[in-house]
Amino acid sequence: MNTLIDLRSDTVTKPSPAMLEAMFQAPVGDDVYSEDPTVNELQEYGASLFGMEAGLFCPSGTMTNQIAIKMHTQPLTEVICDRTSHIYLYEVGGIAFNSAASVKLIEGVRGRMSPEQIEAAINPDNIHYPVTSLVSLENTSNKGGGSYYTGAEIAAISEVCRRNNLPLHLDGARVFNALVATGEKPQDYSRYFNTISVCLSKGLGAPVGSLLLGPKRMIEQAKRVRKALGGGWRQAGFLAAAGLYALQNNIQRLQIDHDRAKQLGKALEAAPYVTEVLSVETNIVIFTLAPEINPDGFINYLETQNILATTFGPQQIRFVTHLDLTDEMISAIIHAISDFKA
Ligand SMILES: *Cc1c(COP(=O)(O)O)cnc(C)c1O
Repeated sequence: MNTLIDLRSDTVTKPSPAMLEAMFQAPVGDDVYSEDPTVNELQEYGASLFGMEAGLFCPSGTMTNQIAIKMHTQPLTEVICDRTSHIYLYEVGGIAFNSAASVKLIEGVRGRMSPEQIEAAINPDNIHYPVTSLVSLENTSNKGGGSYYTGAEIAAISEVCRRNNLPLHLDGARVFNALVATGEKPQDYSRYFNTISVCLSKGLGAPVGSLLLGPKRMIEQAKRVRKALGGGWRQAGFLAAAGLYALQNNIQRLQIDHDRAKQLGKALEAAPYVTEVLSVETNIVIFTLAPEINPDGFINYLETQNILATTFGPQQIRFVTHLDLTDEMISAIIHAISDFKA
């Protein structure tokens, strides 16, 4: 079998024929003038899904997160987030660069912070400390291996924020994976979060783009910040059409990705050269190789089987399932796992 099986990320998906058709058919206009009907439709549709007032289509999830942080903070203030969060680890230190704010890192469990940890991390009013200005959650957690918060856990955190007058941002790059796993509705999130970032180009399968959702006033300001970052765009409706298609067709099927990730997790648990598999909660599988196994050697072996994966820490490997995989590919991966000779 020669088809490449790419488990490096759920960002590697290509538009399906139906998504491409939707892109070609999209009516477009100049979005700097807010005249692209498809961008406008995507923004309204995304906002309405979450019960938020307005949305802004951006090129990446890094941009939606960074714009949100910029709007919620001032220089000399501080963002509370888990130490493994994407906004801290994987956005090039953008919080310092864009917002001149600092971060307070929490040692959560697989990327999940508790309400008590958050409350304890809020700085007292004292001239020595940055003013705590924002709490940011990541759901699902990437570095936590696709772990998710339940609605009840989010409600408790949101209550801490409300009591302390702090806005709550959601890095929801994979929020639909969390919602499909819990069976909860996106509308519930508008009660908890001031702003929400959603990636359309992860498990939902669009080629490009993320949505920032929030109150109308804030989204108007966000559009200015996006422009200042060079992110104003013209006939982006072709891309927005892919995002709309993704939101309208590819949410419920995320369950398939979760089931397949569980299958892979099982196969890895049975492998003698794997010492730990993080319990699979959604579409990410993180596992640890025995100390005598060279991780690069394992990755190279997978490559000989036409399987791509990445290392994710010392002795750790990450597999991500997504909509371009098939049952045949999952069988081939399971065979490759059991055939590996340490
Ligand atoms: C992918 C991802 C983002 C956004 O990444 P971009 O590559 O900038 O689109 C943000 N947060 C998390 C948790 C992610 O996995």
